[in-house]
Amino acid sequence: MAGSQNAIFLLQELISFNTINPPGNEDECASFISDILADHGYEVKTLEFAPKRTSLVARSKGHESSKGAICFCGHMDTVPLGNAPWEHDPFAGEIVDDKIYGRGASDMKSGLAAMIMTAARLAEMGLNERVVMLFTAGEETFCQGARYIAVHPELLGPIGGLVVCEPTSSQPLLGHKGAIHLRVHTKGQSAHASMPELGDNAIYKAAEAVMKLRDMDFNVPAHPLLGSPTLNVGTISGGKNINSVPDYASVGVDIRTVPGLTPDKVLDQVKGLIADKGEVELINYATPVATDPKDEWVKEVFDIVEKVTGEKPQPAAAPYFTDASDLTPALGNPPTLILGPGEAEMAHRTDEYCYVSKLAEAVEIYTQIALKWGETR
Ligand SMILES: [Zn+2]
Repeated sequence: MAGSQNAIFLLQELISFNTINPPGNEDECASFISDILADHGYEVKTLEFAPKRTSLVARSKGHESSKGAICFCGHMDTVPLGNAPWEHDPFAGEIVDDKIYGRGASDMKSGLAAMIMTAARLAEMGLNERVVMLFTAGEETFCQGARYIAVHPELLGPIGGLVVCEPTSSQPLLGHKGAIHLRVHTKGQSAHASMPELGDNAIYKAAEAVMKLRDMDFNVPAHPLLGSPTLNVGTISGGKNINSVPDYASVGVDIRTVPGLTPDKVLDQVKGLIADKGEVELINYATPVATDPKDEWVKEVFDIVEKVTGEKPQPAAAPYFTDASDLTPALGNPPTLILGPGEAEMAHRTDEYCYVSKLAEAVEIYTQIALKWGETR
């Protein structure tokens, strides 16, 4: 399997699998990828975190080197189509000029196609000894598949560098903020609205908590790469009817974190801030990732990208979080880059597309990264 035409066919095949999460149903897509990589001599293992929620690891046979492999990683699931009608069939992979349309075209089936093509190419060259390809399920719902893999890192073997093939327009990014989702629950006492003095209004408490959250200061210096943490109150609900004093309300909070701000620390800070107004529940979290721009391998990848694209990469971070939040710490914190052919602005959009030309470029970049890894380590 070679050539950019094959990469396009492959991407169209990948787009044709409906892996919208929920429910995900990544198993058919995983077995399609598994067949191709097994044909190229890879040892393929699958892991289900729930029925039909299959992640897949492909390693060259006999990869046990303590020197560590380079791991490319991507997720198979996509987000739903949204309410707006699509002009292009989201599962057909229609090509118009330099664009391939479909759900997941950018986020991130183009990344998967480039990974598969790279794996095939390296196998054909006989130079795939220290390459691991990881395809995850459930990324769009807080990295469920990667979280499950992180409990079984032996499936991957020793990893020395991680490339997350999420959409970056082929520019290497050095990491991303983490995320923490919290819910603040406030309680009160119900009463008839005409006699509010007999009740205790839970919505007033929620409102006070919201105003405190709006002005929250995390007391951490800005991270040189990731900047400062952010907070957004995204949901608020409470009360059953207008003519009652509400006895319950809740507020949903999204916090984007930098290294050093652990869920425990943030939870303590929020609890201290809202004091007796309510209780704080941790819903979910993702760890921040920040790779040192001076890392030797990072410099190597920057050079490769510059050679292939003609553009000199600058140290920058991704706006979104990725599977690296779970994988990087589980693998012993290898240097981690986010680098893929999709367009970040196209992620989760109606009429999502990626550029055909970027696909071949990504295969070239990944191949050179893997070859250099094998040569120098
Ligand atoms: Zn993604």
